[in-house]
Amino acid sequence: MKIYTKMTKLSSKDYIALEDRYGAHNYHPLPVVLEKGKGIYVWDVEGNKYMDFLSAYSAVNQGHCHPEITKAMIHQAKKLTLTSRAFYNSELGLFEKHITQYFGFDKVLAMNSGVEAVETALKLCRKWAYLVKKIEQNNAKIIVCENNFHGRTITAVSISSDPDSFGDYGPFTQGFIKIPYNDINALKIALEDSTVAGFLVEPIQGEAGVIVPNEGYLKEALSLCKSRNVLFIADEVQTGLARTGRKICCDHEDVRPDILILGKALSGGTMPVSAVLADDDIMLCIKPGEHGSTFGGNPLACKVATAALQVIENEKLAENAEELGLFFREELLKINSEMIEAVRGKGLLNAIVIKPKNGIEAWDVCEELKRNGILAKPTHQHIIRLAPPLVINKKEIEKAIKIIRTTLNKFQ
Ligand code: PLP
Repeated sequence: MKIYTKMTKLSSKDYIALEDRYGAHNYHPLPVVLEKGKGIYVWDVEGNKYMDFLSAYSAVNQGHCHPEITKAMIHQAKKLTLTSRAFYNSELGLFEKHITQYFGFDKVLAMNSGVEAVETALKLCRKWAYLVKKIEQNNAKIIVCENNFHGRTITAVSISSDPDSFGDYGPFTQGFIKIPYNDINALKIALEDSTVAGFLVEPIQGEAGVIVPNEGYLKEALSLCKSRNVLFIADEVQTGLARTGRKICCDHEDVRPDILILGKALSGGTMPVSAVLADDDIMLCIKPGEHGSTFGGNPLACKVATAALQVIENEKLAENAEELGLFFREELLKINSEMIEAVRGKGLLNAIVIKPKNGIEAWDVCEELKRNGILAKPTHQHIIRLAPPLVINKKEIEKAIKIIRTTLNKFQ
């Protein structure tokens, strides 16, 4: 093993070896070691520059190290970072006012990671089921969709249909009904059960490979839920905050969820900040002491999240995502490559489905993209998600298209 002193200049290989030796092996990253980011660009430790087409799974919608968000973070970090909710703090209320007015809900509950917000929404739904809908204790059910991704806690993997996620993690959380995604009839049938309290859905299934449901699916699902007095819970951790060309993806169908879950870009990628939004009749079902988190709603997170939302609005990131997303998909479809089976997405959440050829898979394409200056990561063996920061401009999209074309041509 190499001996490290303060003077040792470490290479990518050294950093990878360190992670391999001392870190859990729960990820399989592309072999690139990043040390700097600005806007849509990141640099590795050797100084190579890349366009970031993953955006930390849509957590960096505002671009890396956005000056306004960084400024807010540094300012607040010097003032007050954490009080716990044992006391009030001077930032939480201001943030709560800002985010509820921005999205049009009565109340917000601040958490940290995306999966914690999902857990919060599920707990809130169950509380509502017993206190308001009057379902018999311990009988409430929540409908979820196959191929979902809601995170990695025991409950989140309990509702997963991916063996890599749930395998060897049982026993699992009960009280869920799994139905196929984008299948209104299956939802109709599942809703016949009077003990159903909620329907948890991703408006686009990101991790499953950017699966976009049929137009009208969300609207019809909402209307069915309303008719059965069932809460429509939108997990917009990945699709929300301008990523798909609207504030939230549900906006494409004028769907207002009963419970909205946000995370990732709520901090512009600076720290874990997540949130659950709902109206009083739902949110106030949780009383003092019944749910919480030491870090949830901390003043640093609140200041950062308010700045992150302001950037989305001031820089019209939803509008940019909508316009450039259309252009990007149009240009991708013009690429004449046998390897492209399909192109799909909304706004700047897109994917190419790769037709494996001569043993070449999405991973090999991503390695070649990296050599050519674009970072992207496969989801499953044959899908490459393409989701740059939303501050990207048309020239940069054009440059990316050129790189993607050159890369795919190499495998012809
Ligand atoms: N929900 C969705 C739709 C996600 O895409 C993710 C993460 O990718 C999560 C929840 C979990 O978020 P986190 O990794 O911050 O816990």
